[in-house]
Amino acid sequence: MILLQTLKNSQITDHEILQLMIPQEKVAHVQSNHPLDHALLVLIKSGYTAIPVLDPEYKVQGQVGKAQILDSILGMERIEMDRLHDYSVSDVMTEKVPRMKQDETFGKALMLSINHPFVCIEDEDRSFIGIMTRRSILALIHRHLEKI
Ligand code: AMP
Repeated sequence: MILLQTLKNSQITDHEILQLMIPQEKVAHVQSNHPLDHALLVLIKSGYTAIPVLDPEYKVQGQVGKAQILDSILGMERIEMDRLHDYSVSDVMTEKVPRMKQDETFGKALMLSINHPFVCIEDEDRSFIGIMTRRSILALIHRHLEKI
């Protein structure tokens, strides 16, 4: 409670949410109709555990991660790599992804980041404009606490 009050007093504003956001053009993502081998390639090359799934109009559809992909190709005795091309992202992705609007409060981002490593940020048309990561949220809190 004291920490929250301290953060409120230190004026962490909505404006800073956009400043902290990783913009859409720098976010690794896939589309739900992409084959799983492509998604795995993007995940491995980018080094991220999970990335957003977008539709062709840049609307958020969900997220997909390495664990879901590997789980889908686990056979009884071996990992069946050849199945990667038979499935698409929509077969394994989850639609559960935290989202918030660009004008929502930092408090909401902080709350969502407790259970989610990243939060998708949408504009008023619900188009994807970027993500806010747990790292950037913690870094902002750290900066503000140091100033106090
Ligand atoms: P971090 O707090 O930097 O560790 O990031 C948390 C999570 O956000 C990562 O594990 C990824 O799932 C996601 N993430 C961070 N940066 C990107 C990015 N540029 N593109 C796609 N996903 C990202």
